[in-house]
Amino acid sequence: MSPEHISPEIQADSRLPAESASAWPSGNSHVAIFLCVVTNFTTLRRQTGTADWRMVMASLVNWYGETLPDSIAEQIAPDCIQVTLPTKNREMLETQLRATMEECERTFLARGIGLVLAIGAATTLDDDQLTLQEHAERALAEACRGQRLVVLTVEPDSQAFEEIAMLRDLPLAAANEELFLLYQPKIHIRNQTVPSAEALIRWLHPVHGLIMPDSFIAAADESGDILEIALWTLRRVIADQALLAERGHRLRLFINVSGRLLTDSAFIDSACALVQASQAEIGFEITETSVIHDPDLAIANLERCAVVGIDLAIDDYGSGLSSLAYLKRLPARELKIDKQFVTQLTSSHRDPLIVRSTIDLAHALDMEVTAEGVETPAALALLTVMGCEMVQGFLISAPVRLAALSAFLDDYRFETIQADTVPTVMRPASFWKRA
Ligand code: C2E
Ligand code: CA
Ligand code: CA
Repeated sequence: MSPEHISPEIQADSRLPAESASAWPSGNSHVAIFLCVVTNFTTLRRQTGTADWRMVMASLVNWYGETLPDSIAEQIAPDCIQVTLPTKNREMLETQLRATMEECERTFLARGIGLVLAIGAATTLDDDQLTLQEHAERALAEACRGQRLVVLTVEPDSQAFEEIAMLRDLPLAAANEELFLLYQPKIHIRNQTVPSAEALIRWLHPVHGLIMPDSFIAAADESGDILEIALWTLRRVIADQALLAERGHRLRLFINVSGRLLTDSAFIDSACALVQASQAEIGFEITETSVIHDPDLAIANLERCAVVGIDLAIDDYGSGLSSLAYLKRLPARELKIDKQFVTQLTSSHRDPLIVRSTIDLAHALDMEVTAEGVETPAALALLTVMGCEMVQGFLISAPVRLAALSAFLDDYRFETIQADTVPTVMRPASFWKRA
């Protein structure tokens, strides 16, 4: 779209100076912030071109600034504006934002721009701007997952408030020895061996208690604390592997590595040096999409890891965007089928087909397949018939502390010798439950 296609209203709007939101409304203890993002920004900017897109965003800033009384709006990113406004309560804000969001989209559509907006808002009675900002960002992240409008209230005792407060302690979690690892074994069905186990992290916070990785890994990834956490995990795993070896157990230990670290040369250098110095048998579990930001660099780094003997497994296969182009290029030996397909394996019509074709695909690419989330003997039997090599899940063992993993390995060896003539799938469920 060339400048003459941009409607006169937008051209006129964009000449008005946007007010700055850096000023905090004074003399008013009820304050709200909302972040409004254009979710189809890439498509629209491609249509308008960069210069005209600036005009559209300036016009959006002015539209909100003028439509909401006493508000202050500013653009904070190419696709995002931030608006600060005094407000009475959360419900009123939500109603007002829902109505204005629709009105805004209609107004811009009439001007030839089909904006699709998502809004994350937060209100507070207190005047901690940082907390309010963090709540608005969190609300926006939720809104972008599909609800389009999310309004949170900052209350000192709310769960969201506690989580944000807790995440401020994250940088010191490793140094304060608040992190620990659990291990979940992977069983090779045909060989009757336990070739590897996966390390899963936990955070024991002194005030908030046990915190699961889903509640802090994404935040650590964003804040950059993930580097420290990943190196802590790798050192711990190397030390634990040596302890297992002392007890006669030799198995590869896998750690989960988040995408951002694959292009972080500080991480790759340190990880390769640690593995090389210790001669540990380590594996990385990564998701296929984690290489998406800079595939050439990520794949080159993974090849460096392969040179020092780090194995690669593709995690959560099928849960995100799958790209055969990446899958083909990744130096992986193992493909892990996401547990959502495995837990439903015997109750769904489509999941067995997906699992079956994924196993065939992996074999065609010379990879072994691990099914995660194996919870029932029926799922194990079906996976065995389908040619899946390895299984992992609550049926075999939940993630456990190192000492319990070691005991499991003692027991497993014993059970294997006892039952080596009985085909795996014919074993009674009690065998697997006991394991
Ligand atoms: P994941 O890598 O897919 O790990 C498998 C998750 O499934 C684990 O949850 C595990 O406890 C759970 N699980 C294991 N067996 C079964 C089963 O039979 N049924 C069901 N329904 N679930 C099962 P967890 O430990 O809460 O970990 C969640 C996610 O957090 C992991 O998913 C992984 O993506 C991430 N994570 C864990 N530790 C680390 C870490 O050290 N670094 C990074 N970057 N991410 C980690
Ligand atoms: Ca994993
Ligand atoms: Ca997984």
